[in-house]
Amino acid sequence: MTHSYELSKQAYEEALTMMPGGVNSPVRAFKSVNMDPIFMDSGHGAIIRDVDGNEYIDYVLSWGPLILGHTHPAVVKALGETAAKGSSFGAPTVTENRLAKLVLERLPAMDMIRFVSSGTEATMSALRVARGVTKRDKIIKFEGSYHGHGDSLLIKAGSGVATLGLPDSPGVPKDIARNTLTMAYNDLAAVKEVFKVHGNDIAAVIVEPVAGNMGVVPPQPGFLEGLREVTKEHGALLIFDEVMTGFRVDYSCAQEYFGVAPDMTCLGKVIGGGLPVGAFAGTKEIMQQVAPVGPIYQAGTLSGNPLAMTGGYETLSRLNQDSYVYFQRLGDQLEEGFRAAATKYNIPHTVNRAGSMIGFFFTNEAVVNFDTAKTSDLQLFAEYFKLMAEEGIFLPPSQFEGLFLSTAHTEEHIAKTVEAFHKVFAKLAR
Ligand code: PMP
Repeated sequence: MTHSYELSKQAYEEALTMMPGGVNSPVRAFKSVNMDPIFMDSGHGAIIRDVDGNEYIDYVLSWGPLILGHTHPAVVKALGETAAKGSSFGAPTVTENRLAKLVLERLPAMDMIRFVSSGTEATMSALRVARGVTKRDKIIKFEGSYHGHGDSLLIKAGSGVATLGLPDSPGVPKDIARNTLTMAYNDLAAVKEVFKVHGNDIAAVIVEPVAGNMGVVPPQPGFLEGLREVTKEHGALLIFDEVMTGFRVDYSCAQEYFGVAPDMTCLGKVIGGGLPVGAFAGTKEIMQQVAPVGPIYQAGTLSGNPLAMTGGYETLSRLNQDSYVYFQRLGDQLEEGFRAAATKYNIPHTVNRAGSMIGFFFTNEAVVNFDTAKTSDLQLFAEYFKLMAEEGIFLPPSQFEGLFLSTAHTEEHIAKTVEAFHKVFAKLAR
């Protein structure tokens, strides 16, 4: 059966006249998979439905936040109650205290937090704080990592920038870009060399503790520990961007999972349960430098918004250690199914995984950084994406993004997905 995308097509044509590429975030345009975007209508649990009525098992989950699946009844109910009381006040509410307490309890290395409205704001703000505290300008980031679209961080970025194969973005002033030093992910030796030369000028190293914006690339043993050591030695801060990994790779965050404590943490996605949110956290010493206590300014009309706080609280409070054991089990099933199908049909493949963050690559090379991620066969990926959608499986429309699982996914969903791998790889067999 072939899907009809007629209503998606109509919506797309209308959207194209009003929004660049018809979308409000580039990867949604499906460009790298040579398709028009599919417009979504609704989601329940692990299943989403598009405007033409086609249904899919969803492995995008709004790019990670929906760890309980779509429209979890308790989350929807709580959101309704909060909305009925008032969606925003521009004054503090106890919804902020509730979520702050929950997040900080699970992040022992962080003493204080500030909520913002996106991951981009979280990383931009964390960098400002790091620069303000250290009185230094340079930062280190890794090639193929994405930390939102702030000027300092759009250098050799992953995610949509990698998907579209764009050079560093026009509009970022050269004077800002030259303060961003980039190195290959997992290359600790290169970081140490750069610290030898620029050590006194480096404010911070910002790193995804599991990279998730060049596909999924876990840190090699010793990488995060080494970053911790070298930053400490040179008086620079270590910032873990856990916008994607936070409460996804573990009941806590990657920092607990790997046992490496950063100075600051950026959060987003899961901590809003699908509502617009972000946060940056740090040690008390650092966070007390932020206004109104300290001089480093940062603010937001909708920061700590009651709906976002409710979405986050209701989501996080429904996750327990068992949820992550469950993700591990489903992840094993999906990974084994993918490997078996790819092997059977002689499809080159590599799988990287951290709990419920999963990266399938169409290459036989080990993927440890952006250069090796780029050895994946992107043409094959595009075909695979399209055929999987036809089978009712919605995957991220880019090789440089990972798949996510939710508590609403079941063994039956995974089995159906593995069946689809077999059908699709049979068609793509070499
Ligand atoms: N950091 C990381 C690690 C991310 O994955 C993302 C988004 N994918 C961001 C920052 C930016 O978050 P947002 O899209 O909410 O601005």
